[in-house]
Amino acid sequence: MIGRRHFLAGAGAALAFPAIVRAQGFSFYPFTLGVAAGDPSPDGFVIWTRLAPEPLQRGGGMAMNPVEVSWEVAADARFATIVARGDAVARPELGHSVHVELSGLEADRSYWYRFRCEGERSIQGHARTLPVASARPSSLRFGVCGCQNFEEGYYTAYRHLAEEELAFVYHYGDYIYEYRGGWTRPGRGGQLIQSVRRHEGGTLYDIAEYRRRYAQVKSDPDLQRAHAAHAFFMTYDDHEIADNWVGDIVWPELPPEIFRTRRAMALQAWYENMPVRRALFPRHGELRAHRSIRFGNLAELNFLDTRQYRADQPCNDGFRPACENVNAPDATVLGAEQEEWLARNLSRRQARWNVLAQQVMMMALDRRMEDEPEPILNLDTWAAYRVPRDRLLARMAGLDNVVVLTGDEHQNFAGELVHRDRPVAVEFVSTSISSGGDGSDRRPGIERLLARNPQVRFNNDQRGYLACEVTPEIWQSHYMVMDHVSRPGGTLSKRASVAVEHGRPALIVP
Ligand code: FE
Ligand code: CA
Repeated sequence: MIGRRHFLAGAGAALAFPAIVRAQGFSFYPFTLGVAAGDPSPDGFVIWTRLAPEPLQRGGGMAMNPVEVSWEVAADARFATIVARGDAVARPELGHSVHVELSGLEADRSYWYRFRCEGERSIQGHARTLPVASARPSSLRFGVCGCQNFEEGYYTAYRHLAEEELAFVYHYGDYIYEYRGGWTRPGRGGQLIQSVRRHEGGTLYDIAEYRRRYAQVKSDPDLQRAHAAHAFFMTYDDHEIADNWVGDIVWPELPPEIFRTRRAMALQAWYENMPVRRALFPRHGELRAHRSIRFGNLAELNFLDTRQYRADQPCNDGFRPACENVNAPDATVLGAEQEEWLARNLSRRQARWNVLAQQVMMMALDRRMEDEPEPILNLDTWAAYRVPRDRLLARMAGLDNVVVLTGDEHQNFAGELVHRDRPVAVEFVSTSISSGGDGSDRRPGIERLLARNPQVRFNNDQRGYLACEVTPEIWQSHYMVMDHVSRPGGTLSKRASVAVEHGRPALIVP
């Protein structure tokens, strides 16, 4: 705990500030939300922090003034060799967040960074730049995680993720959850899910409340460790805004122009709290989150947005039998522009592995866990959008090197994506950091689901993350799971490693 500081320490530093930037005179440590890096490229990455001396107070305890923050980047963990430094302004308009887009760094190496403000210093973060596009890396190891309901478990998996040797981490969203849950709720297998800590505030409707939820989540020391250890590629799913939203539609039904006001506030709060580039700055309530990167010639990762451009879930959403509308010819998941962009990227065949890093399940599973008479779909997944799904699988069929990474399910799955009776790609579905609570190896009733869906080759219902280990010849996804998250101090273990060989979209399961 950092105690009260003398106002003078801040006032002295303030002399060098431009006239518009007034000293805050912090009573409490301002870097309570840690630091983060994101969107690495071969010559840089974004470094992020947000000032919040009192994270749960309105405005994070900040006076509504712009405040100058200085930053430095070093070639070593002891900051003996500073390679870049500068000043940035934390503005009240952006929740006193700071995004610095670094460039001019060397490819494929480690850097360390930290911030200072009025005599206070942040923790230090580490990030790696990517290899240049013409490089021929012999391997890549990266993490995949998301779904971190603060109420339903401790973030111990993040503490372990921080200790992994990784080039970067892909986050599939549900970084915050927009509601306040009860102390218990039934899970989809009838299991009891218990809350172990409490969201401040209720359901989020205005930007101050979205900001406060991020502040509460980001106060978690294990999450801060993970961000300080690795650069993240951030995406969002539904709960950054509202449960199962798509486009300008949300349940219960609202006039679209009204939902768009909430969506705009939520997307702005998301931008403020994520280490993402200026290209993702929201404009007119929208932001362009889909983007792609190359890890030399080894892998191309396409980070998708499966929410903002998607057509309404057919058949009233939820888990139900399919209705006629799942075959709607004009349905879309990605929207025309993003779908064309993805098709162009895939057709270029620039990398050994083509990765779709996205949110909702692409396998079309029959979700029956009992003796229901007809097949049941999760209508919030690709299964409910047959025409665009078939179109995408047909593209993959010509490639034989596509790997799909998915979240949302709060369960681990590995399976094959089948098009016209032939597997055309594989899908690794990563569980959750905390959402759903402890879980167990098998969710009650899952055996029946697995019997009905032979394309699923691996399943597990514990919390954790994926560590993907990629070489030109083989891709291995290590399913890392926690024994519990309902108390601090859980233990991590490798539940399984599921592999796929390049050129043969069939899973190798131990
Ligand atoms: Fe989730
Ligand atoms: Ca979700």
